Amino acid sequence: MLGAAAPGQSPDALADMSIGQRDACLLSLRESLFGPRVTGMVTCRACQEQIEADFDIRQVRASRPTSAPLSVSESGYQVNFRLPGTGDIASSIRDGDVEATRRALFERCVVSAYHEGREVPPASVPPQVVDAVEARMGEADPQADIRLALTCSECSLEWEATFDIVTFLWTEVDGWARRTLFEVHLLASAYGWRESDILALSAPRRRFYLEAVTL
Ligand SMILES: [Zn+2]
Repeated sequence: MLGAAAPGQSPDALADMSIGQRDACLLSLRESLFGPRVTGMVTCRACQEQIEADFDIRQVRASRPTSAPLSVSESGYQVNFRLPGTGDIASSIRDGDVEATRRALFERCVVSAYHEGREVPPASVPPQVVDAVEARMGEADPQADIRLALTCSECSLEWEATFDIVTFLWTEVDGWARRTLFEVHLLASAYGWRESDILALSAPRRRFYLEAVTL
């Protein structure tokens, strides 16, 4: 999907994009494919009611990642680091172990770490410093963490849900592909047309023939 969103970029360049840059590209792809309006169903945490979340992609656009060098000073440590990309996350995943994954991702993104002025290996940096680095990463790349403020229409609970454009768009594209294949199946069965001819029909013509077939 990212290759379609940012044509001409090498797979390595795509994997190196920060998560916020990547998600900004995918939001644009979503807008050009299906429009800016996003509607989805969310389950209320308290009463399990299904509520509709409805927003415009322009409302969740955030600023670009900072290009300034990133560093955190905490508990006597100074850590210089860079923002993670998709490639970093893919290489850091430790199956089923969230803590080990966080740690691996942190260590991968550290450029240099110092304790009381002496350089130390990233593996020796304590958890509270890792937390501070993570928080700073989020501030530096705000598009990477899209949150929606939701209110339940049944019980009035207010909470924040994260919106993951990767999963959302992939599900939409997958659904669209299945619908399109089914339409090809219906028209090919009825008229004996080839797949390429059916896909070349304009949307209104295809809709007309589908209506005629399913009457
Ligand atoms: Zn509720």
